[in-house]
Amino acid sequence: MPNPARPDDPPLLNVPRQRVRIVATMAIMVLAGLFGWYGVADRRTIMDEGVEAAEQMASQTALIAAGTLEAGEQLLHAMELLVKPPVADGRPDPDAVRAALLDLRAAAPHLMDLLILSGDGRIVHWTGSGTPPPVAEREYFTAHLEGDSRLYVGPPQLSKVHAGRWFFALSEALRDPAGALTNVLVVIIDVGLLRERLTLRNPRTGISQALLTEDARVYSRTPDHERHVGKQLPLSAERAGLSADQPYASTVTVSPLDGQERIVAYQHLRRYPMVAAATLPVAELLAPWRKRMTIACLLWLALSAAIVAIALRAAAISRIQQEQASLDGLTGVYNRRSIMAHADEFARALDRRGELSMLMIDIDHFKEINDTYGHLAGDDAIRRISQLLRDEVRGSDIVGRYGGEEFLVLMPDTGTEGATHVAEKLRAAVAAQVTTPTMVTISVGVATSARGERSLEPTLARADAALYAAKQAGRNCVRVAEPASEPAGAAG
Ligand code: GH3
Ligand code: MG
Ligand code: MG
Repeated sequence: MPNPARPDDPPLLNVPRQRVRIVATMAIMVLAGLFGWYGVADRRTIMDEGVEAAEQMASQTALIAAGTLEAGEQLLHAMELLVKPPVADGRPDPDAVRAALLDLRAAAPHLMDLLILSGDGRIVHWTGSGTPPPVAEREYFTAHLEGDSRLYVGPPQLSKVHAGRWFFALSEALRDPAGALTNVLVVIIDVGLLRERLTLRNPRTGISQALLTEDARVYSRTPDHERHVGKQLPLSAERAGLSADQPYASTVTVSPLDGQERIVAYQHLRRYPMVAAATLPVAELLAPWRKRMTIACLLWLALSAAIVAIALRAAAISRIQQEQASLDGLTGVYNRRSIMAHADEFARALDRRGELSMLMIDIDHFKEINDTYGHLAGDDAIRRISQLLRDEVRGSDIVGRYGGEEFLVLMPDTGTEGATHVAEKLRAAVAAQVTTPTMVTISVGVATSARGERSLEPTLARADAALYAAKQAGRNCVRVAEPASEPAGAAG
């Protein structure tokens, strides 16, 4: 019997399954990261564009509102000429002034009334008919009592004359050379009609526009103007910080008017105490983005499923290839390289695991079987014996085909007595069960590793020698190797 040589290291036949799993998990996570990054960047771009669009709309609203107020100021100058005629004899003709006021009012559709008040707050000329209402308590008059002659821009108010209609007033004071108030000129602007001017011609869906006082009362709002006109809004930090010097602000906030999350852009008018606002609903703005994200998520799921499927397939192929590489083709038990790899593994654990026995088995007179009954019958005998060996040993024992008609059984945690018992059982089973086309027998050599050994090669050599002894003893028998002497220092 030849001494066994050390086996070659098993080649790397396939990517190990563990690595397949790590690569697949990483691929799925990288994809998730890419899709996530795309989603965040896409959303940011859309929101930035939304802010820009809202700022443009606020800007347009501010422009139209400023134009209206400038026209109002020009009206006030024209009215001033009516009560300060360049004639020496003083008092203007009331009918002529009224006719002139009516002409001025006709110049712009959003004008509700033009009033000229006396220094004590009575309406002395106006575009209305009948008895003029008392207005001395109105702020557009009282604002000038303190000696302030600058342009006054009033908050939204309900009209006393035109039921249910909202207005705001522009007024200016006229004083005599001594500084006493002589007249207050008032332009009453109908906010309902002004709103029509302010409304954008081709708005984006879901937008809202508003014109507000500096302290956030609503002059006009599109849509739902009627519901919101005159309302006091909570003064947000962004809006509170606005002024003619700091005219722009934008934010994303939940609207106090409709409860929707909106991008809001504000613009303070340059020369007037008014703020134009435009908003875009975030939900509508992001609707196409949501659609894209749903598609991206589905795509990611599909790609992940494909990666998992490929990984499972690769792992299955790897497992099959590893099995094929480690098993003997004829018998299905471990091949020589594989059983020697197992032996190496056991050898490394000898210190911890204790005794290991091995059986070296050789079919008797096998050459004769081949010669007499042919190689196919010989193959069949090898197959049946290997099956018997597999069936008869414990699950923890390892059966391998060591050579042509030689087998090796590794029996971890088994002493000489137990191994000899199993060897005898195997020998008897083969002799009893493998009887066609002729009775086939085996010879078995048993050896047990010595304590402290770090290699199984000596045990293998002793099992081989024991097998040789069994052959010498007449075959179909079991021989046990002499116990090995323990290596120096192994005792205790
Ligand atoms: P001994 O009792 O001394 O072991 O005698 P033996 O005839 O079994 O010994 P020997 O080693 O001379 O013969 C082994 C034979 O087994 C030689 C070879 O042709 C045959 N053999 C080896 N592998 C196979 C195989 O896979 N199939 C078949 N049919 N025969 C094989
Ligand atoms: Mg033989
Ligand atoms: Mg042989």
